[in-house]
Amino acid sequence: MTDGGTGTGRRIVLATRNPGKLTELARILAASGIEVTLAGLDEFPGAPEVAETGRTFAENALLKARSAARFTGVAAVADDSGLCVDALNGMPGVLSARWAGRHGDDQANLDLVLAQLTDVAEPDRGAHFACAAAIVLPSGTERVAEGRLYGRLARAPRGTNGFGYDPIFLPDSSDLTTAEMEPAAKDAISHRGRALRALGPVIAELLPG
Ligand code: IMP
Repeated sequence: MTDGGTGTGRRIVLATRNPGKLTELARILAASGIEVTLAGLDEFPGAPEVAETGRTFAENALLKARSAARFTGVAAVADDSGLCVDALNGMPGVLSARWAGRHGDDQANLDLVLAQLTDVAEPDRGAHFACAAAIVLPSGTERVAEGRLYGRLARAPRGTNGFGYDPIFLPDSSDLTTAEMEPAAKDAISHRGRALRALGPVIAELLPG
């Protein structure tokens, strides 16, 4: 279980200032039965911003986790994720958050991908979400776990849950977009859920409780 910061010897900083990601990691580690005291980067004033200059999700996750481990002296976990579209040769990929030019403009990014796929017929609308989750210890030990969610892109946005490209992403064998799914149902199959769950045993091995 995650104890909210009171007791266990296992400490991890999650290299994000996004409270949603901290809650998600806490939920997934708790479900894996891993006791850990989790902190966000906001608890370490002055922690540097990291430019996501890697060419792969794993490189970017490692860049963020290394920086956080170095600054805090605490084992650090970071993730990086994105949407890979078959008809766009795997793009936007690591450029997912800034595909339309402005970092984090989810609506513009989604509109641009939909426009780019206007003439792409149903059988060719395949895509997947990918996530790399990295843990870096202050000693320099590093591990990465990856997860994917395969599916296809809808022709128009549907649903209000989630973020980013969720309103146009239909997981394989689902008629609901990931924006129409309950958060727990998305966690159970998502790229991020898979990558973070795969990191659970690694955390248990590297940081004996
Ligand atoms: P980051 O991992 O926080 O850098 O996110 C990268 C970008 O990928 C986000 O801004 C979204 O555009 C996209 N993305 C990653 N995971 C998801 C997801 O689960 N749903 C929708 N969009 C996602």
